[in-house]
Amino acid sequence: MSSIQYLHSKIRDVPDFPKPGIVFKDITPLLQDRDALRFACTRMAEPFKGLGIDVVIGIESRGFIFGPSVALELEAGFGIARKAGKLPWDTLSETYDLEYGTATIEMHRDTVGPGQKILLIDDVIATGGTAAATAKLATRMGAEVLGASFLVELGFLNGKNRLDNMRVEAVLEF
Ligand code: AMP
Repeated sequence: MSSIQYLHSKIRDVPDFPKPGIVFKDITPLLQDRDALRFACTRMAEPFKGLGIDVVIGIESRGFIFGPSVALELEAGFGIARKAGKLPWDTLSETYDLEYGTATIEMHRDTVGPGQKILLIDDVIATGGTAAATAKLATRMGAEVLGASFLVELGFLNGKNRLDNMRVEAVLEF
């Protein structure tokens, strides 16, 4: 079995979670396996080595699991993008459309600054809406979003199309 096949085998499909019709990609078996965890973090960082990334931004909540490890690999700092109402200090926010309704993502307004190079991290890219909104926040702060790296891409949702002008990578595609 190749390393990529091994990672694939550590993603558990949970049908009808959190609602009917959604197949949830559960990454906890991968996290529990020392080889899979190390390989996943290394592969998420690899395409962005040598590009001078200053800050890795982890997207709530599973971007917080992989983000710091990727940041250490890239010798970058780590910042967070959270759901509305969670951050204690001054924030910038972006509201974006979901299939039904809207969602809002926020960052402290000093998370990144002019001239900084940014990489976004999350476990799964589905529609790409959350990552696109996070990229907008970093851009509003004057930073340059060079790319976005995910463990899993749900290819049938074409989320990559919503992330223009940046390099988008995923270790596994379903
Ligand atoms: P998106 O539609 O790309 O904005 O997805 C937003 C968030 O939902 C991401 O942070 C993902 O972690 C999560 N997500 C969406 N679909 C799934 C899924 N099928 N399994 C696990 N997480 C998902």
